[in-house]
Amino acid sequence: MPKTKTAAMTEEKGLNFIEEIIEEDLKNGKYRQIITRFPPEPNGYLHIGHASSICLNFGLTQKYGGYTNLRFDDTNPVTEETEFVESIKEDVRWLGFEWKNELYASDYFDTLYQYAITLINKGLAYVDDSSSEEIAALKGTPTEPGKNSPYRGRSVHENLDLFERMRNGEFKDGSKTLRAKIDMAHSNMLMRDPVLYRIKHAHHHRTGNKWCIYPMYDLAHGQSDSIEKVTHSICTLEFVPHRELYDWLIEKLEIYPSRQYEFARRNLTYTITSKRKLMQLVNENHVQGWDDPRMTTISGMRRRGFTPESIRDFCDRIGVAKRENMVDMSLLEFCVREHLNKIAIRRMAVLDPVKLVITNYPKDQTEEVWSENNPEAENNGGTRPVMFSGELWIEREDFMEVPVKKWFRLAPGAIVRLKSAYIIKCENYIKDKEGNITEIQCSYIPESRSGNDTSGIHAKGTIHWVSTAHAAKAEVRLYDRLFTVENPTGEEGDFTRYINPNSLQIIKEAYIENSLKEAKEGNKYQFIRKGYFTPDKDSTPEHPVFNRTVTLKDTWVKESRK
Ligand code: ATP
Ligand code: MG
Repeated sequence: MPKTKTAAMTEEKGLNFIEEIIEEDLKNGKYRQIITRFPPEPNGYLHIGHASSICLNFGLTQKYGGYTNLRFDDTNPVTEETEFVESIKEDVRWLGFEWKNELYASDYFDTLYQYAITLINKGLAYVDDSSSEEIAALKGTPTEPGKNSPYRGRSVHENLDLFERMRNGEFKDGSKTLRAKIDMAHSNMLMRDPVLYRIKHAHHHRTGNKWCIYPMYDLAHGQSDSIEKVTHSICTLEFVPHRELYDWLIEKLEIYPSRQYEFARRNLTYTITSKRKLMQLVNENHVQGWDDPRMTTISGMRRRGFTPESIRDFCDRIGVAKRENMVDMSLLEFCVREHLNKIAIRRMAVLDPVKLVITNYPKDQTEEVWSENNPEAENNGGTRPVMFSGELWIEREDFMEVPVKKWFRLAPGAIVRLKSAYIIKCENYIKDKEGNITEIQCSYIPESRSGNDTSGIHAKGTIHWVSTAHAAKAEVRLYDRLFTVENPTGEEGDFTRYINPNSLQIIKEAYIENSLKEAKEGNKYQFIRKGYFTPDKDSTPEHPVFNRTVTLKDTWVKESRK
């Protein structure tokens, strides 16, 4: 079971190991400014793991001076799409970062081609006619050396000729590759004559049909860093073995010495951080799209109501690690609550309505009562008028026919305060034939009005409400974690087996304060006692739809302690 990180463990803060390296480099005068890059492959939407990398790369140059490039790693013509490029740009900006240059590895195809020729001229690369299976067969194992390819001895002249013809489209996909000539007995398997170029007759989203050979990751990535004079090229741990090749290529090409540093991938419990697997969820209709609010894609979290501040706070708290571990989803939810508590506007909404009639309130009378917009706001959020009347919706769960011990809400004969309004006493209730409660009848105490209470009566519980005549109907979507297990990809079988069947609950008839009909996408609310909510992109004034961003308390902690 992977270790989880809790909020408490992340409290202490010092410099992370990358900051230490940078401070050392700056002290030694190695660089005048720090240049980093965020290098997504445009083959899907960004997720919470990418947010971590974005906050790190952009955060470092904000802190130490310099800049960050957004570089699309678009060297694989088959999987990349413009839709993904656009969504990635939107997501990075939404997180609050601005890149210096928008760049594409494909912009460097001409330069990379020249680099390949330089290597051939230096006798450091050759064209190999072996198939990928033949290459693999001669690769050896970590404990056994590999064997030289029969094509390894080709002359520079012959290699130059063949490589040019590869480029000209004379050969079929997979029939030839360009390989670095390093050492087939190297202890690092990646240094055993790695493939630098492959043939792929495919249309590229930016270069069209200009190329039919494409550089492999190792040639493209490091050399792109070098072209951009990236000082600190930060990637995840799986690239540790690539560093040797990264350095070899820069050394042999005699180009700007960018340096690669690795940190641990960020994985979160109860979710997936892999574009490929997220794509599977979308394609197999387990979710309604990349921005489904249950997805921990940036667009999904945005639609769900998470704020960029809370995601940045989360990334900051989890920091940078050298070893992989799982981060607890509760920490992300904690960060979201913390921020929303400060900024969300308080409103009343009843999600599971039952009617409450105040029998001694004058029929057809209405009045305005005043309720706080946000007592937690820095500048005191002020108050708003809410329409009150003798017929209200309250939550069904706020009434108990036979109350349990310490029940401070409504029950026969019990007293509660209606939020920002009056104290009421339950006198009676009506049931239908099936035994469902259809109406609760109460009396109210006119002298108990909030802000002007002279009744001398103390009600232990307060419940929220909306006036039936003044409320608007709304659809409310409640989300829960998308998976039932902490690490869905670490369990047996396909990860989709562990999808939480109750991750989405739709309430068709909730009642909200009337003004919420005009709520705009991006507005943040706390529905009192119910959680944080935001209008969905599907919302219209005629048919308001709200997403629950997060509950008020961590309900999962309770579950696991049972
Ligand atoms: P995926 O498997 O989701 O496609 P990836 O690493 O292939 O992830 P890229 O688009 O290549 O995705 O990644 C862009 C940058 O984001 C890289 O520098 C990568 O290291 C970083 N990154 C991706 N996933 C994570 C993660 N879970 N935690 C931290 N950084 C990540
Ligand atoms: Mg990738």
